[in-house]
Amino acid sequence: MKIISSPKEMKAFSASARAEGKKIALVPTMGALHHGHLSLIKLAREKADVVVVSIFVNPTQFGPNEDFDKYPRQLEADINNCRECGADAVFTPSVSDIYAPDASTYVVEEQISKELCGKSRPKHFRGVTTVVTILFNIVKPDIAVFGEKDAQQISIIERMVRDLFMDVEIVRAPIVRDENGLALSSRNKYMDKLERIGAARIHRALEATKKMVEEENCRNVDRVKAFVINNIANAKARVIYAEVVDAKTSLPVSELDPGKCRVSVAVWYGQTRLIDNILI
Ligand code: AMP
Repeated sequence: MKIISSPKEMKAFSASARAEGKKIALVPTMGALHHGHLSLIKLAREKADVVVVSIFVNPTQFGPNEDFDKYPRQLEADINNCRECGADAVFTPSVSDIYAPDASTYVVEEQISKELCGKSRPKHFRGVTTVVTILFNIVKPDIAVFGEKDAQQISIIERMVRDLFMDVEIVRAPIVRDENGLALSSRNKYMDKLERIGAARIHRALEATKKMVEEENCRNVDRVKAFVINNIANAKARVIYAEVVDAKTSLPVSELDPGKCRVSVAVWYGQTRLIDNILI
């Protein structure tokens, strides 16, 4: 497995794979890899000849008072995990490799990005679409794999790829959870064991909401939102938003259409910001 930090070298690696007629998959990550990330790498392995995992904590997607500085970094362990999952290359650029000191160009999706997480993290998705475009331009993958834990992020990337005629297929991977149901996230490292057990209430609340919708044949979005918020909120858990959205676009809907919707939430659990969702 190659470990590459320079964009120029990464481009050369991809160019030679392409010249051999190989299909390239990219798995973009911010590192601190867990089984959720590893499932994406394995899926990429099944779908392509060459798998590139990028590890880059992207400063432009963090707000000024967010956790960029304390975000977990564990490059050596990440590299070993990528190797074990059969990656062919790990791309680990530095911030200055990706952004010129006077970089002034952004890629902005202007509809989906304004909803859900976009309301409390106004420039977050601008950072995501910009860095994903940069990674696509460097690696030039045929496919790119993203996790449905970040369902809004995938919807925005799919929209960007469609709108800008980017030559890449976006592959969705299902959410991977711990034994209690908590969606795996690098940010779970901010919590101790007891908190992680407590935070599993988020998934239980989403499951209970799905059950309620099915049993009551409920179509009322306000009822669903109130139900999920009531089931999550406690002394430790503060719901930032709960929305019923279109499963494909992540845009809020006015009526719940079974099989085509997702309930998405963001929650402060103590000092940790968590997101999760469930298909309904
Ligand atoms: P991140 O490192 O948090 O930027 O995530 C990198 C990729 O891994 C994104 O496509 C995420 O959606 C995906 N991912 C993160 N956590 C999970 C999970 N628990 N299950 C599936 N995919 C995940």
